[in-house]
Amino acid sequence: MLDRYNRKINYLRISVTDRCNLRCTYCMPEDGIAQVKHEDILTFDEITAFIKEAVSLGVNKVRITGGEPLVRKGIVDLVRMIAKISGIDDLSMTTNAVLMSQFAQPLWDAGLRRINVSLDTLDIEKFKLITRGGNINDVFKGLEEAKRVGFNPIKINCVIDKSSNEPDAIAVKEFAISNGFEVRFIPMMNLEQGIFGQVEGGEGGNCSSCNRLRLTANGYIKPCLFSDLGFNIRELGARIAIQTAIGQKPESGSQNLEGEFYNIGG
Ligand code: SF4
Repeated sequence: MLDRYNRKINYLRISVTDRCNLRCTYCMPEDGIAQVKHEDILTFDEITAFIKEAVSLGVNKVRITGGEPLVRKGIVDLVRMIAKISGIDDLSMTTNAVLMSQFAQPLWDAGLRRINVSLDTLDIEKFKLITRGGNINDVFKGLEEAKRVGFNPIKINCVIDKSSNEPDAIAVKEFAISNGFEVRFIPMMNLEQGIFGQVEGGEGGNCSSCNRLRLTANGYIKPCLFSDLGFNIRELGARIAIQTAIGQKPESGSQNLEGEFYNIGG
């Protein structure tokens, strides 16, 4: 479907949970999160029915996000269900890879072929600080197993403060290149202040050619990350919710006062 600005909307990002096994400082509030109630979380059947409707309206690219998707119980089954939907040319997942060493093979067997992994530094202490307690070796093991299994491409999402010439960014880039991974640099964003920029090495943050919709774990379709707009798919039904979201997609992002990265999926 085309929106009012003639942008072809064919990319659906699905947050399958607001939960995460890390607490990254730029994503999760210090004092914890108000978790979505279990009964408000979309079921696998609701998610797959929604995707089928979205595919019938022109979506052919689907990305699974979170929170951290690998903490959603039964995630491998969900991937298998989504991978069976005809009309999806590109199925991917964004993960922190902390659990990837145990999930890589089952996800591959379920039909997933490419992943993006969040990694902002190679420094073990800095990683612990940024993630409020994470162990970077879990991520390295996860990447190694994903590579062994055959995921390709494996892209590294590296959040930068101001520039990809920062020492951590340079180190992550060298690490990525030496492992045959691609790297994308994501400028630090702030939803409330409406601070965002274009992803270096990727497509995100370019409003003039934005092709995205986002589905939150509790069933809101959002036409833009930097907007408070969201339409409840349980109330409106998938088709009307998608058409309404595309119909009201803003020309460019402004600010998001209601959502958080962990419950929209970045
Ligand atoms: S701010 Fe909104 S319109 Fe701009 S690229 Fe992000 S999602 Fe698309």
